[in-house]
Amino acid sequence: MKDIKRVTVAAIFADPEKYIGQEIDVKGWVRTRRGNKNVQFVALNDGSTIKNLQIVFDLGVIGEELLRPVTTGSSIHVQGLLVASQGKGQSVEVQAKELEIYGTAPADSYPLQKKGHSLEFLREKAHLRPRTNTFGAVLRIRHALAYAVHKFFNDRGFYYFHTPLITASDAEGAGAQFQVTTMDLNDVPRTEDGKVDYSNDFFGKQACLTVSGQLEGELGATALGCIYTFGPTFRAENSNTPRHLSEFWMIEPEMAFYEIADNMDLAEEFIKYCISYALEHCKDDIEFLAEHFDSELVERLRFVVDNDFVRLPYTEGIKILEASGKKFEFPVYWGVDLASEHERYLVEEHFKKPVILTDYPKEIKAFYMKLNDDGKTVRAMDVLFPKIGEIIGGSQREENFDKLQARINELGLTGMDWYLDTRRFGTVPHSGFGLGFERLVLFVTGMQNIRDVIPFPRYPGNCDY
Ligand code: ATP
Ligand code: MN
Repeated sequence: MKDIKRVTVAAIFADPEKYIGQEIDVKGWVRTRRGNKNVQFVALNDGSTIKNLQIVFDLGVIGEELLRPVTTGSSIHVQGLLVASQGKGQSVEVQAKELEIYGTAPADSYPLQKKGHSLEFLREKAHLRPRTNTFGAVLRIRHALAYAVHKFFNDRGFYYFHTPLITASDAEGAGAQFQVTTMDLNDVPRTEDGKVDYSNDFFGKQACLTVSGQLEGELGATALGCIYTFGPTFRAENSNTPRHLSEFWMIEPEMAFYEIADNMDLAEEFIKYCISYALEHCKDDIEFLAEHFDSELVERLRFVVDNDFVRLPYTEGIKILEASGKKFEFPVYWGVDLASEHERYLVEEHFKKPVILTDYPKEIKAFYMKLNDDGKTVRAMDVLFPKIGEIIGGSQREENFDKLQARINELGLTGMDWYLDTRRFGTVPHSGFGLGFERLVLFVTGMQNIRDVIPFPRYPGNCDY
């Protein structure tokens, strides 16, 4: 092998003219191999782009014996001349001069032989599925969206604030928590009244994985102004739906001096920004997914970017649902926690646009949401999306110490003194929301199941790798 600097396939396709006529060095995995006894064609993918680079092996240059072990899944290193391609289907190709084989992948054992494996099959092989076109596309889009999240907030003066993953506070009440313990579960210490004795556990008290970084995020916002979190979140709820994971990533901005309308403006701008970013930077991958899974994908993404979201009070939403004449599985009445079918009716059938539903009954929302003057509703805002349902849940927070404490007492929550300090000392109006990152990835990729937009999904009964 000559001493040539390796170039990625993405770099070649980004500027082919720069490399045509030159000897290049490429490394990657073989997607397919075909040909005859004189010439063999290998489609090489190195993960940098959905595009494969065609490598042409003239068997007079690279011996048949050397090439023989190279099959789908093999990893190889090639040097050769980049030329404009004669054949159709690709603009450039490499005329191989040197071949080094890193690893082979025997056809009788490599699981990703065929094209067009089902998504269910690939879920069983989640450790290898990033090597498929579909998951390569999804994972590159996922990366781009994560970058867009950071860029959006950084460009607007928000600080990335790290809230704990292990927490002793379950005040959020968003969902069942996973416990974190070093106790020997075969021999759990008990107190005199028979309860589990956590005093000798690792933290000296019961600890869990976080279901939301919001409460700690509020501490950041009431000091730094505007913050956001972006980290793993854990919910031990037994939700076997295409929209729930047990471990997912959540983005939670929290802003001092923002009222509910500011919060809605930010949420709408944020989602549109992320989608636009993906449309601009992930064109090849989005087009691939559109072509193979969802022909309306690009149109749907553009539609969301180009149209204002509807803003509607919950009470009005209930009236629309009641007047719809639809037979819903779950009944509709004022006070009900909307099910996905209700949310999707409003979005997909009635308005045909994303909807921000506001001012929910206080009973179905968290204790920290600001009470409206009617005494019945709170300043909540859920952003509802086509195909997804709820993608964002947020609110203006109750900043009044007495009202918040009354609500905490009413619900019998304890251990909230640190949180109440934000209202005790220099309280300010503030707002925030939580966006489930995988629901955003689900929307942008057009995939149907949230288990297919995270590399290693965790859901009830499944924790492989
Ligand atoms: P849902 O009603 O859909 O179960 P939620 O109301 O429990 O969601 P929130 O507590 O408001 O969710 O969390 C904020 C956001 O986090 C949601 O809008 C959603 O995008 C996302 N989210 C919530 N639970 C999950 C989950 N189990 N898996 C993936 N994303 C989730
Ligand atoms: Mn919610």
